[in-house]
Amino acid sequence: MTDNSIFKLTYSTMFDPPEELHTRFAEAMEALKQNLGQEIPMFIAGEERFSAEKNKQVSPINTDLHLITYQRGSIQDAEDAIAAAQQAFLGWSRMYWDERVYLLRKTADLIDQRLFEISAAVTLEVGKNRMEALGDVAETPELIRYACDQMEANRGYRARMGKDPLIGFDSSNTSVLKPYGVWAVISPFNYPPALTGGPVGAALVAGNTVVIKPASNTVWSPSILVDCLRQAGIPDGVVNFVTGPGSTVGKTIVESKDIGGITFTGSYDVGMGIFRSFAQSDYVRPVILELGGKNPAIVSKHANLDDAAIGIVRSAFGLQGQKCSACSRVFVEAEVHDALVARMVELAGTLKVGDPAERNTYMGPVINRAAYEDYQTFTAELKAAGKILTGGEVITEGDYARGYFCQPTIAVEVPLEHRLWKHEMFLPIVMVHAVRDLSEAMTLANSTKYGLTAGFYGTEDEVGWFYDHIEAGVVYANRPQGATTGAWPGYQPFGGRKGSGSSGKNSGGFYYLPLYLQEQIRNQVRRS
Ligand code: NAP
Repeated sequence: MTDNSIFKLTYSTMFDPPEELHTRFAEAMEALKQNLGQEIPMFIAGEERFSAEKNKQVSPINTDLHLITYQRGSIQDAEDAIAAAQQAFLGWSRMYWDERVYLLRKTADLIDQRLFEISAAVTLEVGKNRMEALGDVAETPELIRYACDQMEANRGYRARMGKDPLIGFDSSNTSVLKPYGVWAVISPFNYPPALTGGPVGAALVAGNTVVIKPASNTVWSPSILVDCLRQAGIPDGVVNFVTGPGSTVGKTIVESKDIGGITFTGSYDVGMGIFRSFAQSDYVRPVILELGGKNPAIVSKHANLDDAAIGIVRSAFGLQGQKCSACSRVFVEAEVHDALVARMVELAGTLKVGDPAERNTYMGPVINRAAYEDYQTFTAELKAAGKILTGGEVITEGDYARGYFCQPTIAVEVPLEHRLWKHEMFLPIVMVHAVRDLSEAMTLANSTKYGLTAGFYGTEDEVGWFYDHIEAGVVYANRPQGATTGAWPGYQPFGGRKGSGSSGKNSGGFYYLPLYLQEQIRNQVRRS
């Protein structure tokens, strides 16, 4: 029995979990706190690698809490990791695909068994509340299994094509999808298990070898995933894990001509830089970019305003607004603007901000000092340009003094020319604007470079119109669980268009795994 078999935890079911989930999370948190400050090695060519320089990773809840010490890897470490992955590629890619599936399913089971421990680490390192942390970790083996399922359903992506109508010959054709080589996975701070484990699972089951570079704020939970991959028996060199700054270690990986493909999840600016730099090669290689969002919710005058308000508040303030899918803009028909906003303000007032490890906390801290300072800059700008109806301040008294805590913030009457209508703040701030009609709402909703998620509240007929016109990769209608948030492999595959993503295919969906594979058509002729 695996640890998450007590309850099928997804982002949709997390609102009412069984008691046992809470007890086991609390026990895991206690155990982890007894053992803080461990040193985490890199993992290259099947060996642990320690570097001369180290970094301390502290918690955004309390910066005196020293979580782990990780290696500040060098350019040489990144190059060694790529070389190891190259060397391991032939053996791994030639292995029968069902053996790779076996090893990855084993990895998924090992992650399940450590669900509570990894979730507690995520809470401490990201500042994610316990249910969000459990969701992040529970999604990771599901993403890996989904990739395995797709490999099986497509029988290893080997398919007989038509025979050429050549008289006197038997001319057969076979389509085979094959891996690219060394695949780089560079992941962000906000979903360190799922956004490391998901792409790594897909790359590996497809037969690529990997070099992983996690975000420097959140090295801990990805390092536990690497433990699970090791424990599952993945051969040496197939999985390599390097840590250190994106500007040196990450850059070395991206600039290497020996990388066959890359999955980068992170900000628009870094992602577009990677796209351009990756193009400096003799030929085109696949770059899967999963970037930022500026996700709108549109509310019709016919909407159920209770559902709209709760959905918007959950999506705007869950994980402190630091989800790529966070709702940061609301366009509501003028007739119902005041009623919607009043309900949102009331709901925001009920959200508990505090230690995310505690059961009733909804919002923990933001990730680091830079985000904390951004919050203060942005709220000052919004106060000057419009009105803040609730929030707008950092919280500094008592237990909050050593962490990066911010109030959930709702701003109205901010002129549409203001830069923050277009800028991804990635903080617990949502801006609301009253529109004349739904057509104006749609024009505004589509008026950013992003196209990740979007939500709508209104009638069935209006929902059809919304789906047809909105420019976003994941769209939700009349959803109280979250206006613009929610993803799960096999249910709501996740990905963006325009400046939010490069592949046009969503992770955890039908079309994702083939992104890690290239086609070879094999023709063979026999005289008959
Ligand atoms: P980030 O600052 O762009 O960093 C992402 C990763 O890139 C980190 O591992 C970072 O390493 C590395 N990196 C930084 N500079 C690099 C360079 N020059 N070359 C190679 N790697 C480099 O993003 P973040 O703050 O961690 O994450 C938040 C962003 O991710 C938001 O924009 C959010 O919308 C986006 N996101 C998108 C999705 C999606 O599915 N579309 C999901 C989650 C998050 P260091 O940490 O060492 O700098």
